[in-house]
Amino acid sequence: MILSFLMANNRAIVTGKIQLGFTLCIVLGMMSCSDPGGDSASDPRLFVVTTTTMITDLVKDIAGDEVRIKGLMGPGVDPHLYEPVPNDGIALREADLVFYNGLLLEGQMTGFLEGKGDKSFALGSSVAQGNLKGSNEHPDPHIWGDARLWAGCVPVVVNALAELDPGHAEIYRKRGGEVRMKLEKLHQWALQRGVEVPEQARVLITSHDAFEYFGQAYGFKVIGLQGISTVTEAGIAERVKLVDYIRQHSVKAIFVESSVSPAAIESIAADSGVKIGGELFSDAMGQPGDIERSGDEEYDLGTYSGMLKHNINTTVNALK
Ligand SMILES: [Zn+2]
Repeated sequence: MILSFLMANNRAIVTGKIQLGFTLCIVLGMMSCSDPGGDSASDPRLFVVTTTTMITDLVKDIAGDEVRIKGLMGPGVDPHLYEPVPNDGIALREADLVFYNGLLLEGQMTGFLEGKGDKSFALGSSVAQGNLKGSNEHPDPHIWGDARLWAGCVPVVVNALAELDPGHAEIYRKRGGEVRMKLEKLHQWALQRGVEVPEQARVLITSHDAFEYFGQAYGFKVIGLQGISTVTEAGIAERVKLVDYIRQHSVKAIFVESSVSPAAIESIAADSGVKIGGELFSDAMGQPGDIERSGDEEYDLGTYSGMLKHNINTTVNALK
């Protein structure tokens, strides 16, 4: 009864379906009275809400234990399609700071994330307009594919934390500098691995266009079956074109993505006779604690650096 009243009222004052859904979430969240981020009442630290796993990892590396962090999206979650659950509404309402990707990545939530005003920060805002891929109407949001571009997002996090929590500003700045150095090292490593693949074989074919920045940074031509969002599926014509391309260019392997259904890529592989070279992490990292070994290296797939290493190693090993 209360809900239907709220829904009716809500429908009268907002026009978007998304806004209706989200407001409902907040209402449902208030009714469920659960705590979104743990021991909120007794914890004096800043409460920071993040969206994707990559952003959660970056903010954790910079903020450490000085803040309480809640990441809304877990491993394997597709941010383009993610719909907020009731607890997300409470978390966003209670958050002291919100970090999100922006550039329309968090499709369903963009309006609400922006709605936190001067408490919400889009990491994508750190990328200069001229360095963005995609179009003006729909910029390509997958900036984390390039470790150097991702390092450029660090000041957004550091400055926001330092301003709101000046007592810890120095430690945030110090950790921010360390993270940037770590990302630069990772970038150099990835550059060196990329060139192990002969130039004409450096073609990365995946489910959707999540790897344009990755490809530009590490020397791969990228072909995504679905475009830069997973919202629309590829049609027959796109599939036929891709099968032709694979045959004509004798592509050695194509790749599925962890946060996108593998069905379309599997059918392309079956039709073209190409093998599937492995699963790449496109829009979400792996499970924390899932350790992968490659050569004499070990890395955690639930971290940003582990994710990028996995993507480079999987691509290079299958194509070289
Ligand atoms: Zn994507």
